Amino acid sequence: MKELRPSIEEIEAGIDDLRERFDFLCDCCHQFFAVSIRGNDLRDWQNGKLAQYAFPYLTDDERELIISHTCETCFDDLADFWDE
Ligand SMILES: [Zn+2]
Repeated sequence: MKELRPSIEEIEAGIDDLRERFDFLCDCCHQFFAVSIRGNDLRDWQNGKLAQYAFPYLTDDERELIISHTCETCFDDLADFWDE
């Protein structure tokens, strides 16, 4: 049987259709990661608003990707590196 339930992304898109998907490149592993945010919030952040206020609905990992261009996996690797 094929899975017919909508993905989390599709459910969230239905709840908040103002959000758009933006692809952010990780400088570490050079992969793109999609994050759903509102264009207005991205503009606010680019104009100097703190990320935790501009994107309260994102996870820390998603904000880190936007702020420092580092994905969750690479960020964990870096944290391990600095811990040693
Ligand atoms: Zn990465």
